[in-house]
Amino acid sequence: MTPQPDPQLGAAVSAADRAHVFHSWSAQELIAPLAVAGAEGSYFWDYEGNRYLDFTSGLVYTNIGYQHPKVVAAIQEQAATMTTFAPAFALEARSEAARLIAERTPGDLDKIFFTNGGAEAVENATRMARLHTGRPKVLSAYRSYHGGTAAAINLTGDPRRWPSDNGSAGVVRFWAPFLYRSPFHSENEVQECERALQHLEDTLVFEGPGTIAAIILETVPGTAGIMTPPPGYLAGVRELCDRYGIVFILDEVMAGFGRTGAWFAVDHFDGVVPDLMTFAKGVNSGYVPLGGVAISGAVAETFAKRPYPGGLTYSGHPLACAAAVATINVMAEEGVVEHAARMGADVIGPGLRDLAERHPSVGEVRGLGMFWALELVRDRETREPLVPYNASGEANAPMAAFAAAAKENGLWPFVNMNRTHVVPPCNISEAEAKDGLAALDAALDAADAHV
Ligand code: PMP
Repeated sequence: MTPQPDPQLGAAVSAADRAHVFHSWSAQELIAPLAVAGAEGSYFWDYEGNRYLDFTSGLVYTNIGYQHPKVVAAIQEQAATMTTFAPAFALEARSEAARLIAERTPGDLDKIFFTNGGAEAVENATRMARLHTGRPKVLSAYRSYHGGTAAAINLTGDPRRWPSDNGSAGVVRFWAPFLYRSPFHSENEVQECERALQHLEDTLVFEGPGTIAAIILETVPGTAGIMTPPPGYLAGVRELCDRYGIVFILDEVMAGFGRTGAWFAVDHFDGVVPDLMTFAKGVNSGYVPLGGVAISGAVAETFAKRPYPGGLTYSGHPLACAAAVATINVMAEEGVVEHAARMGADVIGPGLRDLAERHPSVGEVRGLGMFWALELVRDRETREPLVPYNASGEANAPMAAFAAAAKENGLWPFVNMNRTHVVPPCNISEAEAKDGLAALDAALDAADAHV
């Protein structure tokens, strides 16, 4: 329902926010968070009555949009019958959520450990891998994001790690494939795949394979730029893990639950099955915090007779699990995954390629499903990014101008470094998607001014 404009209430909300809310990833005095009055489907509203089309899905999690009535009703019903109960008990909502998730994860990833979000899922997956192998180190990719808690931020490759890097005890980083800015100076995907696999094998051989518990990768790295790996890469990593007795962890926190036009991004890579797979966000469209680890038979066996030494007060919270059951059922009944695939292939993908033809600031368009990135550049030939790596303040002005222009056109864009990610709800309508593309068209003029 469209909320009534109420600028006075909006001002009070903003004032209390500035006085008392300490925001993530921010210099507290340099931010002015928009006060949001309401949200529905693919849209949200501020207190002035301005409407924004949400091309960010929150933080890439409202895969079925805001306020889906069936999920809201399921949460209300769960709240009325059993709002909360401790994790050591078997509960209907929890059992059913685990069953529905396990039914969709690939291979024998049939046991589900629930967390409150993605970082905790990553923390527990790496802990399981270390306990399962008895080895200390984890290999992670430079262009990656795995979460903001102590261990997850150290696994992260993204510059957000830098201020809290503790020396990254137990973490060794490597380069995963990314043809547009190839760390291996490759000319095509086949070369990039071969060189990336050779580099990974060299890294683990020189680190000592017997010291490496796990390799963790985002199936399709999200925050770092939405970079679908070349065919054969993930199968190659799987093979290296098998050869050296290493646990393969795929992080599907962002890419899972329909985002790529498949239930999980790994479904696009024939036959690849990780040993552990993390999820969060889209599992219940973020209506109530929930994440988890899907665990293979072999890793689960390690903890069959000996306790798993980890747990969380709110693991498998009934409200979150009821929301997951309802979300997964909505996605299945309404064909959301198929819709995301079709809209990506027929509307968003072609629409973005058309923008790239007309806007010199677009260096590359890449993605799949409802998971796309535009890489903005000063120069298409040299691929010099529109703003320098990890820019802030004045240096970031071209991207700030792009974002401001998008908002003026009713579009809330996802902006990260020199990229905008096009990650709307997976059930966005064709008309909404086309409106969003038209707003992007206008906003890219602001980026073109810096070419
Ligand atoms: N892994 C990936 C791939 C993510 O994208 C994120 C969040 N953006 C996380 C982990 C961390 O999830 P959370 O913020 O729920 O802890």
